[in-house]
Amino acid sequence: MTHPAASLTDRLRDEIDTTGPISVSRFMQACLFDDTDGYYHKGEAIGASGDFITAPEVSQIFGEMLAAMLAYIAPYFAGSEAAIRFEAGPGRGTLAADMQRGYEMCGSALANRPLYLLEKSDGFRDQQKARLSEAPLVMIEDMADLPAAPLFGVANEFFDALGVDQVIWQNGQWHHRLVGLSGEEFAFVIGPVCTSEDLIPYAPLPEAPAEGDICETSPQSAAIMAQMAQHIAHHGGALLVIDYGKSDQLGDTLQAVANHRPVPPLSVCGMADITHWVDFRQLAQVAEAAQARLIGPVPQGRFLLELGIAERAEALRHPDMPEQDRQLLAAIDRLVSPAQMGHAFKVALLVPQGDGVPPGFASYQTEEGG
Ligand code: SAH
Repeated sequence: MTHPAASLTDRLRDEIDTTGPISVSRFMQACLFDDTDGYYHKGEAIGASGDFITAPEVSQIFGEMLAAMLAYIAPYFAGSEAAIRFEAGPGRGTLAADMQRGYEMCGSALANRPLYLLEKSDGFRDQQKARLSEAPLVMIEDMADLPAAPLFGVANEFFDALGVDQVIWQNGQWHHRLVGLSGEEFAFVIGPVCTSEDLIPYAPLPEAPAEGDICETSPQSAAIMAQMAQHIAHHGGALLVIDYGKSDQLGDTLQAVANHRPVPPLSVCGMADITHWVDFRQLAQVAEAAQARLIGPVPQGRFLLELGIAERAEALRHPDMPEQDRQLLAAIDRLVSPAQMGHAFKVALLVPQGDGVPPGFASYQTEEGG
C-alpha cells in the first residue's frame, strides 16, 4: 500500500499492481481530477501562459457570436423570460464573460437570467466566481441539480475531457484495451476478451476489422448528454456543443498536450491535459433516445463564417493600430481556417425534437440533402 501522500503516479502504479490493469477512462479521470495531483485540480491549464488555448482564449468575438446566435433562436425554443443560462466545463470563465457581454450587446433578456455552471475543479470554480459577478451564479456538479426551466448555453471543449474506453481487435476477437505497467512506465496492454454486452456501446463495430484496430466509447459522455437531452426535451432550450470531433468511434484518439505541444498520453500523469476526440454520432444517438435532437455537427469555421464573423471582425478593425489589427485578423484566422481550428473543431446544437435548421448550420442541411 502506498503512502496517501505519494504522488499520483505512485498511487496509480500501486492500484495497477494490486488490482491489475485499469480502464483508459479510469486513467484519464485520475490524471485530470485526482484530489491532490489532478491536472484540472490546479486550474492553471488554459490560456497563453497555460498548456493549451481554447477558442474563447483566442478572441472575445467567439463568445459574443455564440451569445448572439442563442439570443436569436431563443424565442423558437421556449423563450428567454423564465430561462436559465448554462455552461458545462467553463474553465477560466472567459467564454461565460464574453457571452454575458454578447447578450447585453444584443439586448437579450438572457443577459439577466441566472447562470448555472457545471464544474468539477475547485481551482476553476474559484476563478469563475471571481470573474463572473454580473449575473446570479450557481455552481453545480450534477445536471440533476438544474431547476425545471428552459436552458440556453454551451459546452466548449467539455466532452473531450470526459473518460473514454477502448477495445482492440486481436487474434480474431475484440479485447479491452487497458492501462497497465511495463516496468515502471504506464503502457497500453491487451485486456480480457469482450463479451457481446461489453461491445454494445461500441456499435456499430467495423465489419471486417484488421489486426490492431481500435474503437472507442465514452460512457461518461453518453450519461451526461442523456441528462442534457432529457432536460431540453422536457423544458425547452438550446445547447451548443463545440469540440474537436468526428462522427464515428474508430481509432485511438487519446491525446495529451503540455506547454502547447503534444506529448505521449501515458507519459505525463497529472502534468498534461489528456483528452479524446468527441464522437458526435454517439452524442446524437443519445440525444435522439431522450426525445431531443442534436443538429450537426458542422465545422467550426463554416459555422462562424455563416454567423458573420468576418463582417464582425471588419467592423472591429484598427486601421490606426497595425499591431492590434494584425492580432485581430490572426485570431479570426485561427478560429475559422481549416488548417487551424476551423475544421477539426465541430459545432452541434441540442434542441427539442422538431424540424428546421438554425443559423450557422446551413452546411449541415446541404450535407443531409435537406
Ligand atoms: N470551456 C472552457 C474550458 C475547457 S477545459 C474553455 O473553452 O476554455 C474542460 C473543462 O471541463 C474544465 O473546466 C474542467 O474542469 C471541466 N470538466 C471536465 N470534466 C468535468 C466533469 N465531469 N464535470 C464537470 N466539469 C468537468
